[in-house]
Amino acid sequence: MSQKVESGNEGDVPQSSLSSAGRADLHTHTTHSDGAHSPYDLIQRVHRARLEVLSITDHDNVGALDEAIEWGKGLGIEVISGLELSVSLGEKDVHVLAYFFDHRNQDLLDYLTFFRRERLKRAERIVQKLNKINVPLKLEAVLEQAGVGSVGRPHIANALLDGGYIATYHEAFERFIGTGGPAFEKKYQLNPVDAFRLVTNAGGLSFLAHPGKHMTELELSQLIKSGLDGIEVVHPAHDDKLKAYYRGVVNQYFLLESGGSDFHGGKKNDDHTLGMFTVPMHVVETMRSRLFS
Ligand code: AMP
Ligand code: ZN
Ligand code: FE
Ligand code: FE
Repeated sequence: MSQKVESGNEGDVPQSSLSSAGRADLHTHTTHSDGAHSPYDLIQRVHRARLEVLSITDHDNVGALDEAIEWGKGLGIEVISGLELSVSLGEKDVHVLAYFFDHRNQDLLDYLTFFRRERLKRAERIVQKLNKINVPLKLEAVLEQAGVGSVGRPHIANALLDGGYIATYHEAFERFIGTGGPAFEKKYQLNPVDAFRLVTNAGGLSFLAHPGKHMTELELSQLIKSGLDGIEVVHPAHDDKLKAYYRGVVNQYFLLESGGSDFHGGKKNDDHTLGMFTVPMHVVETMRSRLFS
């Protein structure tokens, strides 16, 4: 890969990305889940942010990958297979990122189809709950938001916003669909062991996504014992203290580190964050060497 020399002011490129040659963003979403941008559009933005490696980690969906890998080749961007799964840990909904797996693995594809069907059923239940509390949102409006992507709460939030039922995107979660809210519904309960096995059997690595402030040591050790390979250290929800803490956990348990922006785009208003939450190439190479050495 060519070495890029950064210099001067680069117009609309975010300041922090001026030193981002040889860097990777391993957590992004497209229209194949709840992201606002198509794989093509995302790759163009990643190119402008001067990243060299990208992983697309759509929720329960690998539909963006083939296309993105091809677009990436044309621009010198390596696209690593990625996926975000949701698992249940006690009462908590915990996110798991998978990398480097075979995104054509039939067993994995069958499970993802099942998870997406369960998401659709859940969206129906949420709409029913909203209707019962006199918010006459229609399922069609949600499905229109989702398009080809796995249906999620962000689509419901967007539909509520476009329908004029709320004034801001976040109000959807605060008033209706956030955890414990009057229209909240749980997702399919996949347990961590099954999720990690699915990823391992498809040749990949599993990472705990954005653990944030609310993960107990007991929960962490439970996940590690269940076969977790690594932890997402770099994430917009992690300040320097949290990053240092999780880097410590990674070192203590001989785990791997990952990181990214969790970029969604659009109404989430995070279009400026691409290039700001990255990991250096040696992090990617360490991940790869755990699988292929
Ligand atoms: P789902 O996978 O359908 O449960 O949707 C989860 C997504 O909803 C997360 O990845 C966030 O993007 C978004 N989300 C969840 N809780 C909130 C919240 N309180 N405020 C804003 N967005 C949220
Ligand atoms: Zn998302
Ligand atoms: Fe997540
Ligand atoms: Fe995410």
